[in-house]
Amino acid sequence: MNTYEQVHDKLKTLHLEAMDSILDNYIENAKDKSFLEILEYLLDQEIKNKKQKTIDVRLRYSGFPFRKTLDEFDFTFQPSIDKNTINELRTLRFIYNKENVIFLGPPGVGKTHLAIGIGMEAIRSGILVYYISTVKLIQNLKRDYQTGRLEYKLRTYNKFPLMIIDEIGYLLLNKEESNLLFQFVSYRYEHNSTIFTSNKSYSEWGEILGDEVIASAILDRILHHSTTVNIKGESYRLKERKKIRLFNPK
Ligand code: ADP
Ligand code: MG
Repeated sequence: MNTYEQVHDKLKTLHLEAMDSILDNYIENAKDKSFLEILEYLLDQEIKNKKQKTIDVRLRYSGFPFRKTLDEFDFTFQPSIDKNTINELRTLRFIYNKENVIFLGPPGVGKTHLAIGIGMEAIRSGILVYYISTVKLIQNLKRDYQTGRLEYKLRTYNKFPLMIIDEIGYLLLNKEESNLLFQFVSYRYEHNSTIFTSNKSYSEWGEILGDEVIASAILDRILHHSTTVNIKGESYRLKERKKIRLFNPK
């Protein structure tokens, strides 16, 4: 093996994929550069590539039902949202402070979009995020409880500094189910951050959770350190449908 082949072979052994793929071209065009400059450039590319790969993997495992950023959100369509609040959330300080965020509002106003947008910011800055719908979370917790793995599972969820629990209120919970949700919320309380979305106002949570006492215990913990974004507006889906009808009148 000549030196050229050996270098590429060694780069492969060390999994320095970016360096391996750009080396030839770069060296060809870097004749006026010093050895240190070349080395630094190649290392920079490798670091960038590795960071992007980590982000890609974390995005894949985040469970997001779709990927949308905060920049893709049209705030002019939803004037009830205070942009300053979203900008503050965007700094991710709430995660460092172990605070919660709750998006309230009717269907289609962008609750899930905003939650995922913040989640994507967090992943980009190296924070582990996990998304799950309330229905799925409750299903999982029930199964974990039945198989004696609840404690273990709650500890696993706590490895995520940010979780997104989507759509509280679409499913009415019985007492056993809201008890499990209470345990989940208590476990994360003041240890981690959670973003919740709900189509129901807090005064209706008693109904959803089937028990006023558990509901207020859950709300107490969620709201103790939290930001609520109450969205009052039209459904974006409806707007898109109207637009389609406008251009395709029957
Ligand atoms: P919700 O969770 O409140 O029911 P979603 O976040 O799922 O609503 O929004 C429904 C769809 O409309 C999504 O595809 C979302 O990206 C889009 N959407 C909602 N509001 C906006 C907005 N203000 N700007 C851009 N897209 C939006
Ligand atoms: Mg939603």
